[in-house]
Amino acid sequence: MGKEVIKINISKEDDHVFHRNLNLEYPIIDRAEGVYLYESSGKKFIDGCSGAVAANLGHGVTQITDAMNQQAKKAAFVHSLRFETEVLYKLSKEIIDLAPKNFSKVFYTCSGSEANESAIKLVHQYHKDRGNEFKRLIVGRWQSYHGNTLGTLSIGGDLKRRTSFSALLYEHPHINSPITDNEDMSLTNYIDELESLIKNYGAENIGAIICEPIVGSQQGAMVPPYEYFKRIKDICKKNDLLLIIDEVMTGFGRTGKNFAIEYFDVIPDIITFGKGVTGGYAPLGGIIVHNDIVKAILENSNGIFKHGFTYSGHPVLVATGLAAINYYKSNDILYNCNIQSEYLLKGLNQIYDKYKMIKSINGKGLLIGLEFVPNRDHDKDFKASEKVSERLNQISMENGLVLYPGSGAKKGKLGQHIIIAPPLTVNNTEIDEILEILDKSLLKLQKEINY
Ligand code: PLP
Repeated sequence: MGKEVIKINISKEDDHVFHRNLNLEYPIIDRAEGVYLYESSGKKFIDGCSGAVAANLGHGVTQITDAMNQQAKKAAFVHSLRFETEVLYKLSKEIIDLAPKNFSKVFYTCSGSEANESAIKLVHQYHKDRGNEFKRLIVGRWQSYHGNTLGTLSIGGDLKRRTSFSALLYEHPHINSPITDNEDMSLTNYIDELESLIKNYGAENIGAIICEPIVGSQQGAMVPPYEYFKRIKDICKKNDLLLIIDEVMTGFGRTGKNFAIEYFDVIPDIITFGKGVTGGYAPLGGIIVHNDIVKAILENSNGIFKHGFTYSGHPVLVATGLAAINYYKSNDILYNCNIQSEYLLKGLNQIYDKYKMIKSINGKGLLIGLEFVPNRDHDKDFKASEKVSERLNQISMENGLVLYPGSGAKKGKLGQHIIIAPPLTVNNTEIDEILEILDKSLLKLQKEINY
């Protein structure tokens, strides 16, 4: 507040940024504080989705920026092939304390995609070094996203992103993930689909299944039935498959638990994480490994994970994670997430009553999805060309609210949804502001689409 506004005037000729979309002009953010982002022109946005569901602690937390600064001054970089730092041990201990029981080691990356790539390689090495080199395939799910590298796109189910690069993708098999309102498939059908896939490909060729516990960007925070993961885990045990749970979006309190898999009382083999571990202050991700896998690596691979990146365990990134976790704990962020979730849901239910185009409200904690259809009283979806969630995102941006639009796979078609996921530090007044702008934006959208 009260800081000088920097004006940036860049002509087209002087713009050398390879923008995500070269046709668009993006607002230039000058500073951010709490749940607000300020454009250089002075316009204010309320961050209703924590950027990409990453800025879990809001913006401008000095305990975190100070810790980054201090570590950068002490030792900004050491290479993990030769050296380690104290913060690496401290953060790993904190993460293991938060993880479900019997997890014992953490490996670090710089993103969620790299975390899932690392999990794929760990699965491969685990089986190969036990003499099962053909257990290479990873079962993915159509309604899931695991990252944007070639390996993670291959196991993911993002139809839009996969299509452009389909020639480059590896052939991993996919199943559908439960859609709570899917009248065509009961839970048993989804489980049967996995069992028959294993029969077709042969358990000797499959190494793991990867799932988001609550699907974020592809499904708008649909929560699977309680029994789902128990049954998946049973099948994994029976067929010597590892269960990878991708908590890149859901981890570190986002859903009201430290990790969303806790809702299902199932212990996976590998948990992948990213985003919230630093609250978006630095690009850190990684995998948390169950002790049984660690033991196998010690016994069968001489204790060596044949994998690593230049920046694995980067001191400044790890110090940022440590400061973020200290902040989560000392400010009881989990508690705030749960009470604000109730408040947000109450407000969203009132909005639901006003708009027939909201089909369902999904999610847990502060990972809440709104699913859109032309009219929930009729069994019809929007056409693929009707990019309703993207349009809602545009309108709400104009009105100063940032949302996370999505159009993931839904029964082979594109479903329309939006995620509301403000920083977990949000308060009632800020939620009121989000709801007010959302309501105003939906009203405009409804008039435009005129169903
Ligand atoms: N996994 C999930 C569930 C995600 O939501 C994302 C990103 O949105 C990723 C993986 C990829 O993470 P990153 O973009 O950090 O590579």
